This record gives sequence, C-alpha cells and structure tokens, in this order.
Amino acid sequence: MSDSFSSELFEKAQKIIPGGVNSPVRAFGAVGGTPVFFERARGSRLWDVDGREYVDLLGSWGPMILGHCHPEVEEAVLSAAQRAMSFGAPTATEVELAERVVDMVPCAEMVRLVNSGTEATLTAARLARGVTGRDRIVKFAGCYHGHGDSFLIKAGSGALTLGVPSSPGVPGPVAELTLSARYNDLSSVEALFGAHGKDIAAVIVEPVAGNMGTIPPEPGFLEGLRRLTKDSGALLIFDEVMTGFRLSPGGAQEFYDVQPDFCTLAKVLGGGLPIGAIAGPRAILENLAPAGDVYQAGTLSGNPIATAAGNATLKVLQERGRELYDELEGKGARLEAGLRAAIAESGVTAQVNRVGSMMTLFFNDSEVKNLDSLENLRTDVYGRFFHLLLERAIYFPPSQYEAFFLSAAHSDADVDRIVTIVGEVLQSSSMVE
Ligand code: PMP
Repeated sequence: MSDSFSSELFEKAQKIIPGGVNSPVRAFGAVGGTPVFFERARGSRLWDVDGREYVDLLGSWGPMILGHCHPEVEEAVLSAAQRAMSFGAPTATEVELAERVVDMVPCAEMVRLVNSGTEATLTAARLARGVTGRDRIVKFAGCYHGHGDSFLIKAGSGALTLGVPSSPGVPGPVAELTLSARYNDLSSVEALFGAHGKDIAAVIVEPVAGNMGTIPPEPGFLEGLRRLTKDSGALLIFDEVMTGFRLSPGGAQEFYDVQPDFCTLAKVLGGGLPIGAIAGPRAILENLAPAGDVYQAGTLSGNPIATAAGNATLKVLQERGRELYDELEGKGARLEAGLRAAIAESGVTAQVNRVGSMMTLFFNDSEVKNLDSLENLRTDVYGRFFHLLLERAIYFPPSQYEAFFLSAAHSDADVDRIVTIVGEVLQSSSMVE
C-alpha cells in the first residue's frame, strides 16, 4: 500500500513507535485510512511529505491562532535558538511571558510555567489538593484535561475517540478520587457536593468544552459552578488549555466574565512550541515550591525558545487586541453560516456548535449540550466526510470528538472555499450510502 511517502513512513513508524504516532488521534483510527505526514506549513496552509497542499483547520489542535510561521514568531524563535537551546536556569524571557499572562488573564497574579497542558493540569490537581487538604476532584464526562491519572476518567479527546475514556494503568484508589458530573447540568454537580461536599478539593472544567467537540456552556452554568464551589470551600479550576487567548485576550474567564480560583494554560501560550502554565492569585500560586510546599519542577520549564515563541505570539495578540478577536469572530460567523446553509441544502442532519474561532460540525440529530447528547453520533459518517475533504485538500481533525480552529491567517476566500467544498462533499453520493 506504499503508494505515497506518507504510507511508507507510516509503515516504518508502526514498527518503532506504538501505533505509528506520538499521540493517539493522529493515527486516523477514528476515521480509517493512513495518516498524512507533514513537512511544512505557512499561514493557513499545510504541505505533506508528498508535496500536497491543504487548507488547515486543525491548527495543531489549537496553538496556531496567528497561523503557521507568523513572521514575528518565526523571527523570535530563530533568534532565540541562536542564543541558547536551554539553560535550566532563570531567563528574562520567562519573566516577560509571566508578565504578559498577568496582564491578559483576569485571575492571574502569578504564573508557573511547565511544558505541556498535561503537566499544567496535573500540577493543578496537586495544588488544589495541597491548598484545600481535600482529595476529591470533580470533572465532567467528555472533558479532557490531559493524560494525568486523575483525569483519565470518562475523558474526552483521544480517550473518547478510542473508546477507552478510562484507562488501564490508572490505580483504582486514584480513579475513585475523581467524581464525574454532566456538562451543562448543575444538578449533577449539586448531587456530588451533597454526597461528598467536604472532600472535594476542586471542580475542573473546560469553560467551553472542546474535547467532545465544541460545546458552549449554557447561560448560568459557569456562574453556578462558581457559586457551588465557593459555598463548599472547593476551588474552581478553569482548564483554559484550549480556550486561553483563543476566545479573547483573557480567555473564557474574560469572555464569560466568570473568574475561577485559578486556571491552566498551554497551546496558544507557546505559539506552537511545547509549553503550559498554571496561573492564579498569589495566595494560591505561592503554595508551589520553592515558595511553598506543593512540589512541582521541570528541567526544561520556561525554555528560552518556547517562551520566545510565546512572547512573540502574545505580543501580537496584545497589540491587535479586540480588533483581532472581532476579526476571528467575523470569520467564524461566516464559516458557521456557510456550513449551516450547506447542511440545509444537502438534507444531511448535522449540528454546528461554535464559540469564536473554535467550532465543530457534529453528525448528530439533536442539539449537542453534553456527552449524553452524543449517544447516537454518526462517527462513521464523519469518517467519510473527513476523507472526502482530505481528498479535496481541506484538513479537518481526524476525529468527530474534536474542535477545529480558524486562525488570523485564514482569509475570507479560505473560508468560502471550505464552505463550497463542504457543500459538495455533503451532497456527494458517498456521504449518504
Ligand atoms: N486540557 C485541555 C482542555 C486540552 O484540550 C488538552 C489537549 N488537547 C490538554 C489539557 C492536554 O494538553 P497537552 O496535550 O499539551 O498535554
């Protein structure tokens, strides 16, 4: 089947990398076929190892809000790399990045930098437990908070895609400390507080769910979580790994005007390089070592190249401010309207959920509000849809349980082209067979 360099590489990769990939959803298990291997990217475009060009709607799963190889980010990374790869000692760039986060994110007075979203959330859980002296964590079914043991319970994203929302290898006593509630259903959270109130250290939530596809919070949901946590002395953690700097300069907490006790960040924060962060008030963050007793550390934390990419990205977001987010909202609205019209014209039943530049087209009969709404999700239809788009050079996420993203580099012409091609694909006979 080696009819392309991608398939040749995948055959080789499967022999030496588990499943041939370094993160499960990349393997195309959810959509079938052979993953495409990529070589370069610029603006809204990707090029694979066989030289084919695609319009990118994956955006590296969220970080690329400015598009690929934005000139200022590229320049910052190149010049940082010429100075040093890593010191394992403090730098001015990490202080600058922390200052930018404090300027932009409402709950942030202090910032601890780590290397990924997963590291940020597992630190968040330890910090919440350390601060409250309580052990239980509440999460929502279908939300994904990285692959830490405490979070692989009814998890979204790859875990949901592969049908293993709870993983072998997570010790039972650890899993038992994670309680699962229903997204957009405050009564499910109230019930958990009723049963375990004084043991709950924190509620962690994706303020806009992105890892079971895009699902906005219903009015009052985030406010309700704020109230319930406050009433019982638990902390409210917004996992803004996906929404941070994506929905507004200050993330979902600014967009919805609900302040968590602290938050996790990653993705856009590193402009495409590996990074993560925990950000929050001094009274909470100062519990982290060496200021406090809750231990957390990292050889490459605050890496000079990653922080240079982050600084350059956040600088553009700060300079362009509201205007950039209005532009992203405009493009998002244009794409949403186009997709809805294409769906209506095709007669296919599908839903579009969107917040700003983050959205999902669900092959689902009813409105999508939480994981329960997705019981009859037609993932097989999504697989066909994905491949028909791929053949026509549009790269959607290779799973129905994911969000796709527009960037500042997508033009109206890109958006219109996506809409036209989606329209053709939805009407093609292979979609309805
Ligand atoms: N939290 C959320 C909300 C995420 O979307 C993700 C990754 N998609 C993570 C945590 C984990 O981040 P990482 O993949 O950088 O470990």
